[in-house]
Amino acid sequence: MLLHDYEITKVRRNLCNPEWIVSTAELSDDISEVFPYLNAVVKNAVYTPEAQNFNFKMDAGAISLMPREMIVGQVTCEEDAIKVLDYVKKVINDTWERRTRITPIYERKEEIKAKDILDFLPKTDCRDCGLPACFAFAVALLKGQKRLSDCPALSKVEFAQDKEALARLLQTVA
Ligand code: SF4
Repeated sequence: MLLHDYEITKVRRNLCNPEWIVSTAELSDDISEVFPYLNAVVKNAVYTPEAQNFNFKMDAGAISLMPREMIVGQVTCEEDAIKVLDYVKKVINDTWERRTRITPIYERKEEIKAKDILDFLPKTDCRDCGLPACFAFAVALLKGQKRLSDCPALSKVEFAQDKEALARLLQTVA
């Protein structure tokens, strides 16, 4: 077993859609070695090896994995977040058990797109960055025309992890 346990350390409301919550869990073990194997078996996954970040979506929620952290978003309550966390833990351990029969993929399967950046932005379209919408800001970030510090909302405590994830994503573009 690669991942033995997790502990939920933070739960916050999604500011764009208050019906959703975002749960952050600290992992008992470093799961980075499973990422290339997950990349081979999980459809539509976005793996960024340089940033050690693995993102994917399921009907039940959106998942972001880092070596010692799992973030579950787009769920309506903590009970649902726990169901997703347990399911992903099982996927991680099942994939790790089967790894000798899986051909790992060590590279990102697709180029980073503006929508990948948008996933980590506040999505309030507040225009404080001088652009008409968060999507426009995502495009400008990708082109190097804006910096993360140009979005004041990203400096708020509740977006600290999103900002870190964005910094890692953008490093790979640079
Ligand atoms: S300042 Fe941030 S939250 Fe506001 S529109 Fe720009 S990117 Fe979106």
